[in-house]
Amino acid sequence: MRVGCPKEIKNHEYRVGLTPGSVREYVANGHTVIIETNAGAGIGADDAAYSAAGAKVVDSAKDVFAQSDMIVKVKEPQSSEWKMLREGQILYTYLHLAPDPEQTKGLVESGCTAIAYETVTDERGGLPLLAPMSEVAGRLAIQASATALQKANGGRGVLLGGVPGVLPAKIAVIGGGVVGINSAKMAVGLGADVTILDRSLPRLRELDNIFNGRVHTRYSTVEALEEEVFSADAVIGAVLIPGAAAPKLVTREMLGGMKKGAVLCDVAIDQGGCFETSKATTHSEPTYEIDGIVHYCVANMPGAVPVTSANALNNATLHYGLMLANKGLKALVDDVHLRNGLNVHRGRITNKAVAEALGYEM
Ligand code: NAD
Repeated sequence: MRVGCPKEIKNHEYRVGLTPGSVREYVANGHTVIIETNAGAGIGADDAAYSAAGAKVVDSAKDVFAQSDMIVKVKEPQSSEWKMLREGQILYTYLHLAPDPEQTKGLVESGCTAIAYETVTDERGGLPLLAPMSEVAGRLAIQASATALQKANGGRGVLLGGVPGVLPAKIAVIGGGVVGINSAKMAVGLGADVTILDRSLPRLRELDNIFNGRVHTRYSTVEALEEEVFSADAVIGAVLIPGAAAPKLVTREMLGGMKKGAVLCDVAIDQGGCFETSKATTHSEPTYEIDGIVHYCVANMPGAVPVTSANALNNATLHYGLMLANKGLKALVDDVHLRNGLNVHRGRITNKAVAEALGYEM
């Protein structure tokens, strides 16, 4: 198959759909890979690296779309991109169609077969192509909180690990899923005093076993939440109720009970945020202050570390990408988890949630 990868054009998107390492795998499987010039610039991979991996480097996205049977990307196609898709072409990328009627219409009209990373599943009911970005965001949340806690950045002026003779910072992680456990690992590694709250007792048991006494676990009632938030130096919002907006677990009123200069880091901001006072911020202005509390609410946290994020994403997408390249659409027949990723096929919406959200017939 001819597999194409254009340069990402969404604002501040530095990741790339195929790293040179992934290109080598496709080429080794007998496929032709077509890469737009400079596609890997954001992760420090130049055209020479792609050529060395066996890719054919072309001058424009137009050439990539025209010459490829399958397009591999990171972000949802922008209007100039979906206009270049054609009937029978496979698109493999993040799509997030439900809140995006314009893109959905564009993909339906193109006649392409679009597979959304975010709806591919695994045998444990997880979302394996979303998980790596949650891992990145969870780890980054602690770096961001540590920075925000510094006095010059508006924070309390507390060092996460303390020093001998001075207590470490207290971190409350709300939600012990993929983001939460990665935040906890980083915070523990830096020597902080960490409590994870969750509504799932099996999950709390699992976390207790993993951390072997190095973190506290608490069932997430309003009372427990208040106690932890009021005593914390930094609170990481990492909850997810699949398919729903994040619940507002920390109210504006609760800010009054918090330590001045404490940090609220709302990783769940991409689902609307789990703190009442959260509003999405960007990497160029990541924080703001309300009632003396520093808020960090960057909606695309992995974008800060594109080298790590692009490699983590490629590690997760390569397996199914190769299946698609090797078998074509038969891969969707053979694998139910990849089939769950199918959102649009030859002018029809094939994902129930997207069809319901946007009023399409399936
Ligand atoms: P996950 O499903 O692995 O974990 C969510 C956890 O929240 C689960 O363990 C669940 O039991 C728990 N939970 C649900 N309701 C709760 C409550 N009331 N109190 C305490 N815990 C509760 O999800 P994840 O992959 O860790 O993602 C968490 C959030 O981070 C999602 O909203 C996701 O979209 C977001 N995210 C944001 C970014 C970013 O750049 N901002 C990047 C990746 C993920």
